Amino acid sequence: MVHVGIGYDVHPLVEGRRLVLGGVEIPHALGLLGHSDADVLMHAITDAILGAIGEVDIGHLFPNTDPAWKDAPSRVFLEEAARRVKARGGRIVNIDASLAAERPKIFPHLEPMKRNLAEALGLDVRKVGVKATTNERLGFVGREEGIAAMAVAAVDLPGE
Ligand code: MG
Repeated sequence: MVHVGIGYDVHPLVEGRRLVLGGVEIPHALGLLGHSDADVLMHAITDAILGAIGEVDIGHLFPNTDPAWKDAPSRVFLEEAARRVKARGGRIVNIDASLAAERPKIFPHLEPMKRNLAEALGLDVRKVGVKATTNERLGFVGREEGIAAMAVAAVDLPGE
């Protein structure tokens, strides 16, 4: 049976931090604030996968009070979610995600992001969707106070 999961995450944009999205460092005046590298895209996808297999969310698996995850590359979280799917005898069918960011332009970075995500999850890159949109200058995304990400995952869990 194919199970689906949804993930959503937001991180604030601040000065003096790197902007890392889907494992790609994007040159920009502002970066995302968080305990780890604050890769909002990888966090949303991690939660979508964990949700599909009915496990606790990323914030409980990797608490931001734990020094082990300070400035950690978020790929670690994604790999753990994939490992948990495997431990259940399952297989990620596909993932899809959308980023909402007013600036910088995300489109030129989408292909390397997809490649990173596919590699971390052991998926063919054609099973990984990532899109980006602005927020038409509305709300916190529009004011460039933060970046949001949404993701879905489909996971085949045989016999469940
Ligand atoms: Mg997060």
